[in-house]
Amino acid sequence: KYQGPSFEQLKTLRQNFLNPALTTYYSTPLALHQGYKQWLYDINEKRYLDMFGGICTVSVGHSHPKITEVVTKQISTLGHVSNVYYHPKIHEYAERLTQKLPGNLKVVYFVNSGSEANDLAILLARAHTNNFEIISLRNGYHGMSCQTMSLTANSLYRYPVPQSAGFYHAMNPDVYRGIWGGKYCRDSPVQTLRNCSCSTNECEAKTKYLEQLAEIYQYSIPRKRAAAFFAESIQGVGGAVQYPKGYIQGAYNMVKEFGGLFVSDEVQTGFGRTGDHFWGFEMHGIIPDIVTMAKGIGNGFPLGAVVTTPEIAKSLTKAAHFNTFGGNPVSSAVGIAVLDIIEEEQLQENSKIVGTYLLEKLEKLRDQFSIVGDVRGKGLMVGVELVRGDGSTTPLSPEKVMKFWENCRDLGLIIGKGGYFGNVLRIKPPMCVTKADVDFTISVMKKALEEI
Ligand code: PMP
Repeated sequence: KYQGPSFEQLKTLRQNFLNPALTTYYSTPLALHQGYKQWLYDINEKRYLDMFGGICTVSVGHSHPKITEVVTKQISTLGHVSNVYYHPKIHEYAERLTQKLPGNLKVVYFVNSGSEANDLAILLARAHTNNFEIISLRNGYHGMSCQTMSLTANSLYRYPVPQSAGFYHAMNPDVYRGIWGGKYCRDSPVQTLRNCSCSTNECEAKTKYLEQLAEIYQYSIPRKRAAAFFAESIQGVGGAVQYPKGYIQGAYNMVKEFGGLFVSDEVQTGFGRTGDHFWGFEMHGIIPDIVTMAKGIGNGFPLGAVVTTPEIAKSLTKAAHFNTFGGNPVSSAVGIAVLDIIEEEQLQENSKIVGTYLLEKLEKLRDQFSIVGDVRGKGLMVGVELVRGDGSTTPLSPEKVMKFWENCRDLGLIIGKGGYFGNVLRIKPPMCVTKADVDFTISVMKKALEEI
């Protein structure tokens, strides 16, 4: 039973002492105090189905008993030593993590967040290639440190202060909102309804977006030599945007042609979430030079990592590189437990089965409600675009999206919201959700759609 400060007291504390730029999502903020698996409980003991997983972070379920057990055991044995010393957990974890990666991705740097991971990837790429420029995709999100804010290409998250030099943003290959469409062109059980002139096999939209990327090399980048190209395998904060098939492969080839490294940001798409594969980049048929990860890696514990090849890692030995908390014994114990749980509970497989079931049900809602413009995603990384319902892609008004969203919450369902216009519902639950949870989600969404 909850015995902490009242809602009003929490409100006052928040107003007085916490970051005022932080949104509290709902008009009456949710005050949560307990969680178990896919369930959350507020301070009045009301239960919610969590289909957002702490923003795609709670991968194996809230308060998983195995994680509680390993944290308790590790913290009471040796809570912290930095990794200038040997300690068995970090060594064991580094080996376990690399066993999940293909190719020569064998060297791990542990950090504490996604922003830190991407910051380090920028440094690695520059140190290795001796190039400076970095390219990423518009509408992408890679973090909020000064450097990753420059990598992020969503103006909602960019401050009016000088950004780091050397960052370029390529046109976003978005088959729903983009100007070239892409009817059959994304790797999802659901296809877009937008027309495009290509056949099912060779996507014309892909070719046009790659031409735009080539123009950045040609016109903007000195000597046409960039240090790296960064992309999420499916855009997260940007609203589950999927690229036309073959785009990432084409971008990879181009990056190689111009002497750079390909960095896959797997902060949201890693650890089995996309179902078919453990890593999102695998659906694009590439092996990146650097992979960055956070969120689901620790099921909510502050942990992140950068994995690269021994050759690239060697370039970072020009000076010392150190991180106090990265891979500390408790984080490493949690990281190992997360890998174990994903395997033991077959959560990647569950993402595929339950995610596909969810997408099929959402597709039916799309066909039933004209304001559901697009349904997309893979596994349990899903997006639903709410639009005006006049056949265009014009986003639904923020007031109506908000009403829909708050109705869902009142009915006991938590889902996310994102995309540049704030009209994309983001569904990324803990990977232990069931088909019954999907049925509940759909029935609540249907009611909330009928109301608006
Ligand atoms: N990359 C991606 C794809 C993300 O979604 C996020 C966080 N939303 C980050 C990087 C940054 O992670 P963090 O908030 O842990 O710094």
